[in-house]
Amino acid sequence: VSSGLIVSFGEMLIDFVPTVSGVSLAEAPGFLKAPGGAPANVAIAVTRLGGKSAFVGKLGDDEFGHMLAGILKQNGVQADGINFDKGARTALAFVTLRADGEREFMFYRNPSADMLLTPDELNLDVIRSAKVFHYGSISLIVEPCRSAHLKAMEVAKEAGALLSYDPNLRLPLWPSAEEARKQIKSIWDKADVIKVSDVELEFLTGSDKIDDESAMSLWHPNLKLLLVTLGEKGCNYYTKNFHGGVEAFHVKTVDTTGAGDSFVGALLTKIVDDQSILEDEARLKEVLRFACACGAITTTKKGAIPALPTESEALTLLNG
Ligand code: ADP
Repeated sequence: VSSGLIVSFGEMLIDFVPTVSGVSLAEAPGFLKAPGGAPANVAIAVTRLGGKSAFVGKLGDDEFGHMLAGILKQNGVQADGINFDKGARTALAFVTLRADGEREFMFYRNPSADMLLTPDELNLDVIRSAKVFHYGSISLIVEPCRSAHLKAMEVAKEAGALLSYDPNLRLPLWPSAEEARKQIKSIWDKADVIKVSDVELEFLTGSDKIDDESAMSLWHPNLKLLLVTLGEKGCNYYTKNFHGGVEAFHVKTVDTTGAGDSFVGALLTKIVDDQSILEDEARLKEVLRFACACGAITTTKKGAIPALPTESEALTLLNG
């Protein structure tokens, strides 16, 4: 069990997921309300594993916003860093489940409350108490959230936090691929730890190669750890001194939503109190095996938050 605080910055929203796949949104017989948003998932992944986390972001002062804040609190996530916007509503995502199992999203964000977080509204006390500051808001590109994002990163860094970044690429939300690349790269070299998916690696390098060379082309001098997650193929890790891979666990996958967030939450929970792990390949591999186990378990249940594992569930898979 870790004791250092992990602060996760970004959005929390509700996914409306149809009860059947292969039909249009309008034809769906019903929807499930699934709370999500990658940064919020990471915050809950941490507490579910017994760690300490806080969420920083803005929700609408509406039924959905208060429901989401309640879910964070019920899960033991510190909520003092949450702001409520009086005017704008909480972000919503309407999901279509295609017959091939892929998901398509339509977002209510015109603008949603998360996009309207201003630098002045940030709870700096929460941010300064972070041992690890995790970020990667999909609202990075819009003001005032962009300025709030940059300020939060700066304050956390000054206070000595380890900075962890997941770009959470959501192309339909960005004006263009070019702009998305530019924005992601503008905060790239502030991070100590970066996790990208194979899709994000391809997007950022502009090549369809997923190998060591393409991963290393994203390296920056201050980086301590770069991770490339590969779904059912596990993950690759890169540090200044060593690199390698960790295999995924074989599980019965039903829904991969939240696997990456579960993986990140697990990694951060294990390194928050002991960053020397990042310099020791054997210990890092052990931590990444744990993170892969957490990611795998998350794919065995529907939704993200309900599927995030406890430490004992992860250890059962790990040692089983
Ligand atoms: P992201 O959600 O960011 O795309 P991934 O889907 O690669 O991330 O998932 C993160 C981690 O979760 C992977 O590195 C892997 O260890 C585990 N994982 C994801 N999908 C599966 C799967 N189908 N089977 C087993 N493990 C998985």
